[in-house]
Amino acid sequence: MTFRVVSVRGIPISIHPSWLVVYALLTWMLAVGYFPQALPDQPALAYWVHGLVAALLLFVSVLLHELSHSFVALAHGMSVRGITLHVFGGVSELGEEPPSARAEFVIAIVGPLTSLGLAGVLWAVGRAGFVPAGSPEAVVDYLVVFNLAVGLFNLIPGFPLDGGRLLRAALWRWTGQLGRATETASQVGAGFALALMIVGVFRIFGGAVVAGLWMILIGMFLRGAAEASRVQVTLREALGSLAVRDVMTAQVITVRPDETIAELADRFWTHHVASFPVMGAPAADGRVRGIVSVRQVSDVPRDLWPTTAVESLMRPLTDDLVVAQGDSAYRAFEKASRNGFGRLVVLESGRLAGYLSITDLTHVLALRPGGVAAKRGADRRRLRPAA
Ligand SMILES: [Zn+2]
Repeated sequence: MTFRVVSVRGIPISIHPSWLVVYALLTWMLAVGYFPQALPDQPALAYWVHGLVAALLLFVSVLLHELSHSFVALAHGMSVRGITLHVFGGVSELGEEPPSARAEFVIAIVGPLTSLGLAGVLWAVGRAGFVPAGSPEAVVDYLVVFNLAVGLFNLIPGFPLDGGRLLRAALWRWTGQLGRATETASQVGAGFALALMIVGVFRIFGGAVVAGLWMILIGMFLRGAAEASRVQVTLREALGSLAVRDVMTAQVITVRPDETIAELADRFWTHHVASFPVMGAPAADGRVRGIVSVRQVSDVPRDLWPTTAVESLMRPLTDDLVVAQGDSAYRAFEKASRNGFGRLVVLESGRLAGYLSITDLTHVLALRPGGVAAKRGADRRRLRPAA
């Protein structure tokens, strides 16, 4: 759950609620730590105002870093879903993996270069005497250190940090295998994350509780992100060139919109499935009206089951629940993961051609490559009319 705040060149920029926590924390650290030292003998309110402004500028710095990634990705013909600012900084959500090792390299390196460049420019401007002494100088000094730290931290060669992406690009170029390159770069990333957590534990025992906890949290976050990226790439390689028709269920059991929830509950029980596409009446044109899942049924009080129609419960069919037989299985997996339902209806010329769930896809992954190849084309029997 994020709040969309603004769009830059068509890139939606959102804020995760956790960002507010870290914004408050940063403001506090600046207001009681840095500014009283940098600007002695000022009222407390002045320190808090400085803290608020400086913390905001830190996020602007992070945003510029992310925008640089996104702009270069756009220049390489990639789609950018958006930028999200969260508790650990920011992330650019690119629509797909970069087209080449070279593109990956350029997209990754521009971020740290932007941060280091910002630090350099602000430092030079300060040294040249363009920044008035007092408040502006204290803020600019802090921004220099912050951007320097962001630039250097991101160059650590553990995926998914920018340095890890550089490593991945180099390995990809070298071996020609994106999957293997991601695996190695993720392992380095997970190793670095673990090291960060261990250092965090030592710092806590050394008395630096907040700093230590912070390092542990960042380590956990990086470890999770490294693992997620690895799984994603592995999945993409495994699903490879498969199309939706290769992995979908062609024998689909459907329900009618006018059936009651009580009848529906029986069907779940009989067929051992967790969801059904809902189809128009038998004589109709075979159009899919929506999807109904066992989880939705459990939200309805049991005494209403005999009188409630499936139609009032189902999730009506929208674009995010539909794929075509020719779509790639990997894209379908991404779509199913994002639609909050884990399932997709496969339509061909508006008619039901199959059904696909994330569970089906995981079953495909469990098969050996030979097994997947053997399955190709096997399930293309014509669909029976709705049960
Ligand atoms: Zn970056």
